[in-house]
Amino acid sequence: MNIQSLYNIYKEYPVISTDTRKIAPNSIFFALKGDNFNANQFAKQALESGAAYAVIDEEQYVQGDRYILVDNVLEALQQLAKFHRSGLNIPVLGITGSNGKTTSKELINAVLSQKFKTYATIGNLNNHIGVPLTLLAIDGSVDFAIIEMGANHQKEIQSLSSIADPDFGIITNVGRAHLEGFGGFEGVKKGKKELYDHILQRNGVIFVNQDNEFLVEMSVAHPQIVFYGTGTNNAVIGRRLERGENVSLEWTVPGEKQWHEVNANLVGSYNFENVLASICIGHYFGLTVDQIRKGVEGYVPTNNRSQAMKTVKNALICDYYNANPSSMAAAIDNFARTMYDNKIAILADMFELGDYSKDEHVKVIDQLKNKGVKKAILIGKHFYNADDQSTDYTFFETTEQAANYLKEHPIENGFVLVKGSRGMKLEGLISLL
Ligand code: ATP
Ligand code: MG
Repeated sequence: MNIQSLYNIYKEYPVISTDTRKIAPNSIFFALKGDNFNANQFAKQALESGAAYAVIDEEQYVQGDRYILVDNVLEALQQLAKFHRSGLNIPVLGITGSNGKTTSKELINAVLSQKFKTYATIGNLNNHIGVPLTLLAIDGSVDFAIIEMGANHQKEIQSLSSIADPDFGIITNVGRAHLEGFGGFEGVKKGKKELYDHILQRNGVIFVNQDNEFLVEMSVAHPQIVFYGTGTNNAVIGRRLERGENVSLEWTVPGEKQWHEVNANLVGSYNFENVLASICIGHYFGLTVDQIRKGVEGYVPTNNRSQAMKTVKNALICDYYNANPSSMAAAIDNFARTMYDNKIAILADMFELGDYSKDEHVKVIDQLKNKGVKKAILIGKHFYNADDQSTDYTFFETTEQAANYLKEHPIENGFVLVKGSRGMKLEGLISLL
């Protein structure tokens, strides 16, 4: 079936399902393939569960006219999304970066939704399947789309950009994440720059943090840049305020005398730049000072990213949604600067680092030492192998072993940073803290 015909069906049945456990009534089921499954096998079940049509790519499973046979289901999904996007006459903001994409996306959405009917990527649906699904969820009532794009290798952002076709874009930062897939830090820069390149090609606008030398360097060829940062030569100028654990700042624009205070519900000094990005974008799209403040202050994270939490025993910073060397460094830096007596860092392995792994875990241990963090529990094979016995830190190979240790040696009246890669499942430790 060609895309136009598929699009006609989608117009009538504009909801997409991909998971047979969650079939929306009258949806189109796309039978995707994964490493361990072939959803062609579940197409029948999807139709029985209420889907209107099933898009499949293996002829043997066709059993009537509610089956739509295509060459490749994933490509059909992507082409359909691209086709749908090309008919949407609204601004589309693409967000990528090594760290802070979701946080920035949520903040930008919180701000822009004070004025527009926005649609933003839900959760972390930021890959070659998530981006098409996000686009296909945008209906005619939406007047602003905010699309998170993730990548762990070259050309991925280019391909996601060709589907989502953003005319506005922001790279939050470039850091030491997914080093294995990108081929080192230079590779990360090249891979992320694909967003700028796409926007350049279609004459759009990029928002650039002028405090970040790499982003400045990457955007140098661009004619339409809106800068934000701490210097007075930015379109939106920010300065930090010390108000407690959460990020507070004030902002202004060149030529204006008044500064506008904003208090975010986010811990971690690195969130300063995420907040400032959302202010800059809100300001660019004509929101008032008040709308911007309401948007930022109304955003309360619920996703285990940089969340402060108090338990009966301790104060925690929960940041175990994810970890890579640059977010780890930012989190430790922030933690080390906080004034508390009894600080304990509970950190777990960072994944996807390939040959850089040993080195990056050693660097984390060195950073803890150098920043004066006296107590740390370090979990996972990578940390375990990086231990050179030169510290008093406690090492465990598994999260389970760390949990057993915490049962026997409970932490009390502590200020605890909990951070590690998703797969380390640090959430299992929270009830012990
Ligand atoms: P993912 O790759 O999982 O989609 P992401 O880029 O969407 O990640 P977030 O989920 O917003 O990033 O944040 C993940 C973690 O990255 C945060 O909990 C924090 O530790 C760190 N982080 C967030 N913003 C920044 C920043 N501006 N600079 C450095 N680290 C950051
Ligand atoms: Mg994300």
